[in-house]
Amino acid sequence: TWKPVFPNAADSDYADAIIRDRALAALGNVRSQLGKTYLPLINGKWENTENFVDSVNPAQPTEIVGKIGLANIEQAEKAIAAAKATFPSWKKTPVSRRAAVLRKAAELLEQRRHELCAWMVFEVGKALSQCDAEVSEAIDFCLFYAAEMERLDQGYIYDTAGESDRYSYQPRGISLVISPWNFPLAIPVGMTVASLVTGNCTLLKPAETSAIIGAKIAQILVEAGVPDGVFQFIPSKGSTVGAHLVKHPDVQMITFTGSQEVGCWIYAEAAILRPGQKHLKRVVAEMGGKNAIIVDESADLDQAVGGVVYSAFGYTGQKCSACSRVVVLEPVYDVFVSRLVEAVRSLNVGDPADPSTFVGPVIDHNAQTKIKEYIEMGKQEAEMAIALDAPSTGYFVGPTVFVNVSPTAKIAQEEIFGPVLAVIKASNFDEAIDIANGTNYALTGGLYSRTPSHIQKAKADFEVGNLYINRGITGAIVSRQPFGGFKLSGVGSKAGGPDYLLQFLEPRTITENI
Ligand code: GLU
Repeated sequence: TWKPVFPNAADSDYADAIIRDRALAALGNVRSQLGKTYLPLINGKWENTENFVDSVNPAQPTEIVGKIGLANIEQAEKAIAAAKATFPSWKKTPVSRRAAVLRKAAELLEQRRHELCAWMVFEVGKALSQCDAEVSEAIDFCLFYAAEMERLDQGYIYDTAGESDRYSYQPRGISLVISPWNFPLAIPVGMTVASLVTGNCTLLKPAETSAIIGAKIAQILVEAGVPDGVFQFIPSKGSTVGAHLVKHPDVQMITFTGSQEVGCWIYAEAAILRPGQKHLKRVVAEMGGKNAIIVDESADLDQAVGGVVYSAFGYTGQKCSACSRVVVLEPVYDVFVSRLVEAVRSLNVGDPADPSTFVGPVIDHNAQTKIKEYIEMGKQEAEMAIALDAPSTGYFVGPTVFVNVSPTAKIAQEEIFGPVLAVIKASNFDEAIDIANGTNYALTGGLYSRTPSHIQKAKADFEVGNLYINRGITGAIVSRQPFGGFKLSGVGSKAGGPDYLLQFLEPRTITENI
């Protein structure tokens, strides 16, 4: 019988009235807690700060979700000192104890599932069911990396007669995690627990727009038993404190998910050897995509339309895995476009706290402005097939589809990170693959086809880290679909996969003549 290699956490079934009521009750409960203050965690203490920033609800920006205390450079230095002081003992802490912290964190995440979903709804405007999937993913990261570290901890034995040859792994040291707002729970949890379980003292600098979820993660890790100084939470300005930490000679490892611009900057800065630095930094960066789905003439169009719409407009297109280009073969182009437009027309755009909403707001005013500029550009470059209205109360942008887009148009090349989809026509399958591969990115990609030779060609030649055939291209599941790309989509091995933890470790060989 079939047995999963790794038992993934189950998402909530909102068809069950009891579950639905719990989720709605959590939304009400969290709403009553809005406006509190959250502070950095430095050496086991929540430290007061001079500067604060408001985190607002993007669906209703007058609503302040909470105030975040921003750490300054001195506090960041204090955190580095605490991490340095505690590293020797964390490094020697048995893997079973480190793994136990992750397993406890997974338990707490499950207990607080509906509450965490509610915080995500308010802080980043993500629709409820998608928040729930994120809690599952965060739990999976904890349990998967705990088991992975236990596997790696066994090391390798290459003994021969009269000689012991042992290969094992040790942590790198001080590790900086810089996390994005678009998966405000799953991604920081994944990056942070990977870093912790491998024995590194870890500083988490969350995106400013999702720092309250970051604070919830910090509370959960403390409750799970992570020692003082081993994990520290450093909400701060990226341009000052974040940059200071990236350049810091005591930081050994930087794990980043975010924009290509910042990722490339970190990669360059991390390569510079600074006074007092005795190591080269390791950078893992996950940076985005301009992901395409190819729809050929043999595709099941009902399936294709559903998969494209979900992949393009889920979380308002703000996933690096999102579909932003669909490449359609000429014989089915017109019928696909008309069905796509009708499917988009039926999307519910609105308040993510309403369970029937599929498309919520975008993250902030800057994002809204930038996306609207791309839409204006699209009107010059291509033909707008549909643009849905959206509420004017918050940072909303209605789902927008452009058709007859040239593969080299700006809207077909640049990552917009919003609900904007470019439809491109291809005259044959080889051309479709060339168009799909014709950007600087290589993260996800998809194909809808029932033609074996096309499926085969896509497997061989569609240059992406995660290729999905006859399904949507978002929502990678830990251990089943290790996630990550190459080219300008990122550097490092896949999250939730068998090589991920190796990046946080230094291998050693010890040979003893016996
Ligand atoms: N892992 C997510 C997915 O498969 C995307 C992560 C991201 O947007 O950074 O949809």
